[in-house]
Amino acid sequence: MIIDSAKLNGPCSCGRSHEMATKEAVIEPGCMKRLDHYTAKYGLTGKRAAIYDENTYHAKNGIHPPVDQEIILNPENLHANEIAVGMVQEQLAEDIDYLIAIGSGTIHDTTRYCANQRGIPFISCPTAASVDGFCSTVCAMTWKGYKKTMPGVAPVFVLADIDIIKEAPLHLALSGAGDIFGKYTALADWEVAHALTGEYLCPEIERMTREAVEAVTSCCTGLTAKEEKAFEQLTYGLILSGLAMQLMGNSRPASGCEHHISHLIEMGPAAFPFRSDALHGEKVGVGTILASRIYHELAGIEDIRPYVHPYAFPSPAELEPFYGPVLFPSVGEENTPDCMKDVTPDMLIAAWPKIREIVSSIPTAEELDGLYRKIGAKRTLEDIQVPADRLEDLLHFSPSARNRLTLMRVRWMISR
Ligand SMILES: [Zn+2]
Ligand SMILES: [Zn+2]
Repeated sequence: MIIDSAKLNGPCSCGRSHEMATKEAVIEPGCMKRLDHYTAKYGLTGKRAAIYDENTYHAKNGIHPPVDQEIILNPENLHANEIAVGMVQEQLAEDIDYLIAIGSGTIHDTTRYCANQRGIPFISCPTAASVDGFCSTVCAMTWKGYKKTMPGVAPVFVLADIDIIKEAPLHLALSGAGDIFGKYTALADWEVAHALTGEYLCPEIERMTREAVEAVTSCCTGLTAKEEKAFEQLTYGLILSGLAMQLMGNSRPASGCEHHISHLIEMGPAAFPFRSDALHGEKVGVGTILASRIYHELAGIEDIRPYVHPYAFPSPAELEPFYGPVLFPSVGEENTPDCMKDVTPDMLIAAWPKIREIVSSIPTAEELDGLYRKIGAKRTLEDIQVPADRLEDLLHFSPSARNRLTLMRVRWMISR
């Protein structure tokens, strides 16, 4: 299947005009063999470098397109951070005209960052259906320990070769599915923000993201049996979600409280030092179940008035010992100006019936749990090496990892 950006660009029913940098996404078996057809189609000429890690270089069914330079990173402890960027920048020849990322999310974010630094384009060739960030315009980096969104460029086009993707280790695809299931709570958070503060929401972009979730939910049980159709649908969902973010200009449609849960774990605050070796989407998937449970519990309150108090960001006395001296300053920076500073108890009370309605569209924790069991995805905090008795800390502190209005952050105004 092919996603053609020309059909998505232009004036929209939301009143804005959306523009996408990625011209085309091809999701088909064998499509990487047609790389040169697409570089010619989109006018990419000159010298090119391909960036892999050792795993993706040796991927089953993988092909190595002829390039002027191959950079193969050591996959051990490889993260999208200042170290990986440094390794690429050190090796990358001066006269390279465009880059080709051949790998999963980390390789993509590293390549995207370097392409932006050099001011050159890049092409995306995902080797696993593991995250929805391939088409992102920004890099999801862990920069000096702090999860940060940094400037990058979107790929000119994507060649998602299902022959390669379906041979990647299954847990990578399950992580991709988890990243997609997270859209249930991410979209709810966006709608809550829209209902509460009038935050801009585009119904078209929302629809695209919902289509991504539906494409994946309807076929994910075929992943364990290695059904080609399941991998194609999963990859389609991930790329569609990524393109929705591109149209939006940020990750709002695709990232809410469940991502903040994942980010908090990845940051490893001083008083929450659990090194999880789970993948991004696995943590997001678990976060989605946790968030669904708490959101449905909250929405069970018919009359919120007795429980609402004025909004307050957690105090430094609470945050500093939790995050520790290294991370604490960045938390303050990230949350200034606070996205909820103007939200009053009256606003929350007025929006509450709508918020309850929004939450009712999220599958329940039990439904999600059942789905995850069917495909063998990680479901619990123990599965991602976080002690279950730290759940409340995770729910309470995770909204401070990102300055974005979510129902989890609104929960700071509700005490029971
Ligand atoms: Zn729109
Ligand atoms: Zn994600």
